[in-house]
Amino acid sequence: MENNTIATSSRRAHCLVLAFPAQGHINPMIQFSKLLVHEGVKVTLCTTRSFINKLQNLPSSMSLESISDGFDNGFEEAGSPKTYVEKFLQVGPQTLVELLENLSQLGNPVDCIIYDSFMPWVLDIAKKNGIFGASYLTQNMSVNSIYYHVQLDKIKVPISDNSEDEILLPAMPKLQKGDLPSFFFSYEEEPTQLKLLVDQFSNIDKAHWILCNSIYELDKEISEWTTKIWPKFKTIGPNIPSMILDSRIKNDQDYDIAQFKTENCIDWLDNKPKWSVIYVSFGSMVPLNEEQMEEIAYGLRDSDHYFLWVVRASEKNKLPKDFAKKSEKGLIVKWCAQLKVLRHEAIACFVTHCGWNSTLETLSIGVPTITMPQWSDQATNAKYIVDVWKVGIRAPFHDDEKKKIVKRDALKKCIVEMVDGEKGNEIRENAIQLKKLILEAASVGGSSHKNILEFVKSLQGSTC
Ligand code: UDP
Repeated sequence: MENNTIATSSRRAHCLVLAFPAQGHINPMIQFSKLLVHEGVKVTLCTTRSFINKLQNLPSSMSLESISDGFDNGFEEAGSPKTYVEKFLQVGPQTLVELLENLSQLGNPVDCIIYDSFMPWVLDIAKKNGIFGASYLTQNMSVNSIYYHVQLDKIKVPISDNSEDEILLPAMPKLQKGDLPSFFFSYEEEPTQLKLLVDQFSNIDKAHWILCNSIYELDKEISEWTTKIWPKFKTIGPNIPSMILDSRIKNDQDYDIAQFKTENCIDWLDNKPKWSVIYVSFGSMVPLNEEQMEEIAYGLRDSDHYFLWVVRASEKNKLPKDFAKKSEKGLIVKWCAQLKVLRHEAIACFVTHCGWNSTLETLSIGVPTITMPQWSDQATNAKYIVDVWKVGIRAPFHDDEKKKIVKRDALKKCIVEMVDGEKGNEIRENAIQLKKLILEAASVGGSSHKNILEFVKSLQGSTC
């Protein structure tokens, strides 16, 4: 760290927080940035040019900058993940170096880059420039461990077709094939995605810190194991707005940082009884096929409960004809302020794709879930939700495992079990206990808060 001067000067440490351009990546990094600002750190938030331009309602407590991925008019221009990642690797590093130089010339040098672990190349640039590098893991610890074991060659891809195989990894429950991230099975079609995820760990042991958007107590065994293999590992989650947790940050009202326009559904929820509405969302990316959309639609209708369903604009034409108009008990929106919705007392449960942010949000608010994982890390998150934390019910796929469709009757059965059944009460009780544990970890004196303070302190040079 020969160029690092914060240890000896009184100026505030300056972090460049560099997020991968996806909603589920920038959301937690913004929330983490706000906590750093609260602790006296200066933050510049950065992602790709095209993505930052799409985002609405970014917080004013930090500066904004961008780098280029080579597709400044939108990543759609890339045409394939492979082209996108290759171009990003060519253009990203160069534009990041230019940005660091500019900031330095403007008298605003960067002391530490907190970079999304999807971009391990940032660490090399940080080191070359005498800057600290902190890898920020946006996914759950169990998922990180799975990819790390692929990196170590301890899990071979492709996985054998024998469905009896169980995967045993340290500090984790036995995993069936179906609990693994989807890229293990779509390896032929999506090799770029698996490589991107495995490469996160190519140089992670050289990072100055490894920060993970999770909670130590949520899974002590894997937290302890991870801390042993990476002594610089720290859990700093859940990175969700502080108003959901201990309201440490005053006037923290940003429900709506998003690339989509939020529709108001709170008035609709206000008129519904307590615990009467099923909230359904599959996050910002995953597409469903028409058959699955139809089964969900009729499963919701047949359950005879109120429902609020987020169907993104790109998915709308897959809905059964006139379904939205005819659904007396349902409201379909293109995007909502999810945290506001989950907090609403009318919500009975969340039918979710189990993206890690949605998972942390629902755990932190104490809303029970019905799991319908589709892609990426979601199946592993679902395994933990159902079998480890016991705060959800798994919506089973139809017998034809390859098609991975949840039929309407299966969804209806889960809804009835959750809202009207004994099991639902047990699950709600577990969810409330877990919510308490998370709140404790995130509040002043809790494990995540202590880790954030330690990180800020070491950034100032006193212990690093
Ligand atoms: N989200 C939202 N409104 C919606 C749907 C999703 O604000 O209508 C937010 C949600 O709160 C979460 C993020 O989008 O913070 C989705 O991230 P997640 O990791 O759950 O899924 P991904 O989009 O990465 O698949």
